[in-house]
Amino acid sequence: MMADSRKNRTGIMGGTFDPIHYGHLYIAECSRYRFDLQRVYFLPSGRPVHKKRDDILDAVHRLQMTRLAVESNPFFGVSGVEVEREGPTYAVDTLEYFRENRGDREEYFFITGADAILEIMSWKDVSRLFELCEFIAVTRPGYCFDRLDRVFKRLKPEQRDRIHVHETGGILISSTEIREKAAKGEPIKYLVPEPVEEYIKIHNLYQPVYCNQQ
Ligand code: ATP
Ligand code: MG
Repeated sequence: MMADSRKNRTGIMGGTFDPIHYGHLYIAECSRYRFDLQRVYFLPSGRPVHKKRDDILDAVHRLQMTRLAVESNPFFGVSGVEVEREGPTYAVDTLEYFRENRGDREEYFFITGADAILEIMSWKDVSRLFELCEFIAVTRPGYCFDRLDRVFKRLKPEQRDRIHVHETGGILISSTEIREKAAKGEPIKYLVPEPVEEYIKIHNLYQPVYCNQQ
């Protein structure tokens, strides 16, 4: 990878974070270490265009849980830029925003799970996005590389060079699993940081909605 030593290397970790969990924190920390990133910003999405679910938790809660989760890591920060933006959020707009606000001093690395990178081709202004940032595609255990290879074949060589596949031991958790456990009253301890666990409890999040059948 061509690194420019005069520039700060900044990680951008996007996600729905509904809720944030140790899987997210772990891949961000591994990427920070491996790619020598000075900071990693977590960006909870506003209204994600690529998510099929329509019952995503209010952004205020997702943002607050993300803040609580990263508090103990001095390299981590949170940006509410996607949450605050009206309408659907696109990675390209977010990267343009960071570029405008922080000038040319930064090299951006968009950290994402390899499954999400597969969708890149369908993202808005892909070619511009590749100019604005490089990608760190983190694979989870058992990941099938054939799918990634298929995506790579459709990219230009200079784009392909800006995707860095990063294999991690990974942690097999998803937000879906946590929402399901919370709904059933099962423990989510050790899957999410304690302040996040507390927050979910205090605000009664992810509880099943019972219909009044009278
Ligand atoms: P959901 O179950 O609702 O889809 P999720 O756990 O996949 O949630 P997201 O907020 O959708 O969480 O994920 C944000 C990013 O983190 C995505 O790029 C996703 O691929 C990645 N990611 C999520 N969980 C893990 C994990 N356990 N290990 C590695 N990457 C993960
Ligand atoms: Mg997901």
